[in-house]
Amino acid sequence: MWKDKRYHSLDYELRKVFGRKTIKLSLDGGFTCPNRDGTVGNRGCIFCGEEGSGEFAAERCLSISEQIGNQKEFLSKKWPEGKYIAYFQNFTNTYSTCEDLRQKYEEAISLDDVSGLSIATRPDCLNLDILDLLEEFNMKTFLWVELGLQTIHEDTAKFIRRGYDLSVYENAVRELKKRNIRVVTHLIFGLPKESTKDILDSVRYVAKTNTWGVKFHLLYVQKGTDLYEYYKKNPFHILSKDEYINLVCDAIELLPENMVIHRLTGDGKKELLVEPRWSLDKLRVLSGIDMELKRRDSFQGKNYNI
Ligand code: SF4
Repeated sequence: MWKDKRYHSLDYELRKVFGRKTIKLSLDGGFTCPNRDGTVGNRGCIFCGEEGSGEFAAERCLSISEQIGNQKEFLSKKWPEGKYIAYFQNFTNTYSTCEDLRQKYEEAISLDDVSGLSIATRPDCLNLDILDLLEEFNMKTFLWVELGLQTIHEDTAKFIRRGYDLSVYENAVRELKKRNIRVVTHLIFGLPKESTKDILDSVRYVAKTNTWGVKFHLLYVQKGTDLYEYYKKNPFHILSKDEYINLVCDAIELLPENMVIHRLTGDGKKELLVEPRWSLDKLRVLSGIDMELKRRDSFQGKNYNI
């Protein structure tokens, strides 16, 4: 149904929309996060390192054009006909003034071969002015907004210090959908104290939001995070590779066919990653998911209406 996959991948969707390979370029817009600067919290989410996503340490001091130029130079060798999505990924990418945001988003989409914009943020950083700004960009480019929900369970949300309630996410989704803006929700599998049922209940909930996409993450215990300190004192269950593959396949079956799956597993930083080390072999995890879906003779949407 989705070329060679049994699920609706982002690669499939972007090829359908743009007619060619379209690649996300990860950007650091120089923003911070209200969950770190004291507005909502001081130490951030329990799994988040001081530099946000570590891959950006060197990029933060470069302009948006320079960051895009550097990545394009590298990627265009493999994909000479490729198009790009400017992905504002690190920290909270609507956490600034509208002028600053407008200038950075505009700079990104004005560059050659950039066909769209992806903005990762928190649902509590979308006031009316920002929503209007996003609506404006939604009319001139292919835009989606990514929201870090991680879980629907309030006990877990408190434990991970997410800093907002589920109702805040619900309101953000409502406001974005009102403006026809595509929404992608992030969920994390393997959070402490969450059972398989808890995780799949979060998936079931997101499946029913009628939003554009979803991203599944595996919980990483990384050095330099409070989660690592917690784990040393309270070693909790770390998902095995087989457990994770089974969970992802169960989750894929629960999603509607039209929901775009942006990610099935992540890219942990080798030198920071404590657990689960098996996740470093990403290709093996992805092929394990393909094999398990085949073994089950299953596909995305199989259990959506159950
Ligand atoms: S919202 Fe994102 S950037 Fe902010 S502390 Fe949590 S994980 Fe880190």
